[in-house]
Amino acid sequence: MPGPKVLVAATGCKLNQAEADLWKAWFVQNGYELAGDARQEAGVKVCLVTTCTVTGRADRSSVALIRRLHRRYPDAEIKVTGCGATRIPERMAALPGVTRIIGYEEKEHLIASLRYGKDSCDAFVISRNRAFLRAGEGCNRRCAYCIVSRIRGPVKSKSADAILDELRVLAEEGFGEVVLVALNLGLWGKERGESLTLLLKRIEQEERGAPRIRLTSLEPDTVTDELLGVLASSPRFCPHLHIPLQSGDDRILEEMGRPYRTKGFARLMDKVESTFPDACIGTDIITSTPGEDEGSFARTLEFVRAMPFSYLHVFTYSPRPGTPMFARRRKCKHNPREETKILREEGVKKSLEFRRRFMSKTRQAVLLSPTRALTDNYIDVRISHTSRPVRSLADVKITEATPEGTTGIVK
Ligand code: SF4
Repeated sequence: MPGPKVLVAATGCKLNQAEADLWKAWFVQNGYELAGDARQEAGVKVCLVTTCTVTGRADRSSVALIRRLHRRYPDAEIKVTGCGATRIPERMAALPGVTRIIGYEEKEHLIASLRYGKDSCDAFVISRNRAFLRAGEGCNRRCAYCIVSRIRGPVKSKSADAILDELRVLAEEGFGEVVLVALNLGLWGKERGESLTLLLKRIEQEERGAPRIRLTSLEPDTVTDELLGVLASSPRFCPHLHIPLQSGDDRILEEMGRPYRTKGFARLMDKVESTFPDACIGTDIITSTPGEDEGSFARTLEFVRAMPFSYLHVFTYSPRPGTPMFARRRKCKHNPREETKILREEGVKKSLEFRRRFMSKTRQAVLLSPTRALTDNYIDVRISHTSRPVRSLADVKITEATPEGTTGIVK
């Protein structure tokens, strides 16, 4: 007899989505029926929500999601986990329908016992056609604006053996690409005297079933020459690096507690460009941090324009209680909305410029659906319908790149 019907939903980052999928895998594995999250379904008894708290907006969307689920399923018990549940448990517990808050420590304990498929595997495979494999947790840094590292604690890395086991299972499941995720992936293994370079070398040597590997965000100071060398040594690693800059003004970087300055960042970009001429280089920028003025924004804009970025993720600073930047209670001296808009427009231009470089070129891509593929260098391509299996790799020729998107054909 199946267990009660459960709906699992998440707000926020890839790590949170990953955790939601872990929960889904666990529920399926343990005989529960899963509800889809797109429409109302009969018989939902439990909703599990993994919440994000990275910005005030993330808090609001977690609260809105919980309220929406309660309206949709008034008789269901709502259980809340994730960073939001750990940072503001009282607020989450007071929401209608919420019967349980699962704090970070407790959640870790539960997730550690999850099993997927034949082997021990807590990668997750349910809602996407790319697998995101959680390589570790936590961050040893304490950037002045960041609440997440304060909630998630120091780096805790999964062992290389466990990661290799999970990659084998995912390869058997037909995944052509696996994304390695962690809060600060560049610090993988540090607590054991290991390094991400070592992990990647072991993955590269693995012969049985070999999905290609994409890395999530890497902090600039963790991108060493050795790491770039390993990434460049094999086509198994996608030429896609997401390296958060956060500000193009040295004074603001210092206020943020970031351990690099623009000169060093620019040198790193030179190295990345010369090592991977076709790489997609993405970055994050936070606008309107306390203390920022028109001069610092102008320097950021100029710096961003000069860097070989292929896309930008631009966020407006959100004060998070519990962080040093919140405690300073300083204000930014100009218009946050306008700044964010200007940088986002710059990101659109850079993306178009980057995608146009690959017109008429063929790249290896993972098929996300019969009409959508993602190239090794992170170009999301609308393709003419293919009958090849989703999740598999195929060569895709890019035929058009416009501000709205990119189109291509499977060769
Ligand atoms: S490196 Fe990233 S996760 Fe770590 S403290 Fe800084 S912003 Fe937070």
